[in-house]
Amino acid sequence: MNEFELIDRHFRRPPHNPDVRVGIGDDGAVVAPAPGMEYVLTVDMLVEGRHFAAGTDPMRLGHKALAVNLSDLAAMGALPRFALLAVALPQSDEAWVVAFMRGFDALARQYDVELIGGDTTRGPRNLCITAIGELPAGSALLRSGANPGDLVYVSGTLGDAALALAVADGRSDVDPQAGAALALRLDAPEPRVALGVALRGIASSAIDVSDGLTGDLGHVLAASRVGAAIDLASIPCASALRGKLDSGERELALACLLAGGDDYELCFTAPPAMRERIDALAQALRLPLTVIGTIGVEPGLAVRDEEGRPLARLPQAFDHFR
Ligand code: ADP
Ligand code: MG
Repeated sequence: MNEFELIDRHFRRPPHNPDVRVGIGDDGAVVAPAPGMEYVLTVDMLVEGRHFAAGTDPMRLGHKALAVNLSDLAAMGALPRFALLAVALPQSDEAWVVAFMRGFDALARQYDVELIGGDTTRGPRNLCITAIGELPAGSALLRSGANPGDLVYVSGTLGDAALALAVADGRSDVDPQAGAALALRLDAPEPRVALGVALRGIASSAIDVSDGLTGDLGHVLAASRVGAAIDLASIPCASALRGKLDSGERELALACLLAGGDDYELCFTAPPAMRERIDALAQALRLPLTVIGTIGVEPGLAVRDEEGRPLARLPQAFDHFR
């Protein structure tokens, strides 16, 4: 099957959104912004051998490639609208593309995201998605808005994906039932879209936890020119991980919790006056939103252990070029 047959059969679909004036099939897509709204654009690439192993279930990849982009939109407070998909494939493998698009389309449908273009080429397997989201002008949640006195929150639980990876690599083990739940968090992360949108006007800053809490929160602190103190004991995590914190596996548990990537939860700050609204939001979304610390004027991040003493050394967040 040649490139254009592949595109026509598997990527091209009739436009369904009236804002899309020109969808797949021309040299570029044309979309009409609604008055008073701004677009947020983000791109993320998944490279075989780097972000996923050869032989990874293509349906899961289709989900994850889109999910990581929707997570970035959520962290900005944007409502996902459109996506462009660039794929490099070692060969024209139709079954692989069908499964990949099944995963992509299921998540795209869930959030009403329309695929409006892309590129298809032969090469080492690589999936690159550009996602476009929308929000009222001036309402984007930025990394730079945290203020001294703000509370630091995280959604859901942290460290699940990193623990799943450690189990898969044979560096740790958990009971099979817990293992299945953790693996799902690694393979099929749920972008916190509804939370991000609801945090407009509530959160002072936000970021998604893709590379690990200390690193990602560190970006917020640097952009906001503030510091923070957080409490290890208050960071929400799976009970399988909590148990490892006071065992021979404490180092691994600390690394998962503080520096484990791939959870795609949101870390955000908000003034204490917003506490009730955030509690109500947690109820409405049925998603735990937990205070883990406070923003201070003193630069840097202090993590206090269970006895309230600062941890001497923080596990490092993920960095491709370190
Ligand atoms: P051009 O050569 O002008 O860049 P292409 O031949 O690469 O155009 O693509 C033809 C059309 O198909 C374009 O509208 C492009 O956006 C779309 N397209 C190509 N690959 C994909 C893909 N993987 N997913 C979605 N749309 C795609
Ligand atoms: Mg092209």
